[in-house]
Amino acid sequence: MTPGTYLAARRTAHRFTAEQLAEQLECLPHLGLTDRTGWLLAIEADLMPARETTIVAISEHIRLDIDLLQALDKARSDDGVKVPVHCHRCGVTPRQLRGSTAWPSATLCPSCSP
Ligand SMILES: [Zn+2]
Repeated sequence: MTPGTYLAARRTAHRFTAEQLAEQLECLPHLGLTDRTGWLLAIEADLMPARETTIVAISEHIRLDIDLLQALDKARSDDGVKVPVHCHRCGVTPRQLRGSTAWPSATLCPSCSP
């Protein structure tokens, strides 16, 4: 995963469309919904980095693992970065699923495992 695909996976796991999430986010300069949706999709496509304030705003609506997000960002330029365990489909981390059962797969959480 990249930072952008992680954000997209978490948004999808929370059943938000890009437009629905963009409706919840303020941005400066103020943009209309279509432009805001395009801005969000550009972040998810890794065409532009998300600012810290954007990540904070997104995390008010979607549960993110900031340590994972930072590791994914560092891993883009450093193959030696250890990326925390996470579901390769929905992006959830074991830490976010406290108290749940063991993961049946190394790359998929219990919810995403077949
Ligand atoms: Zn999952």
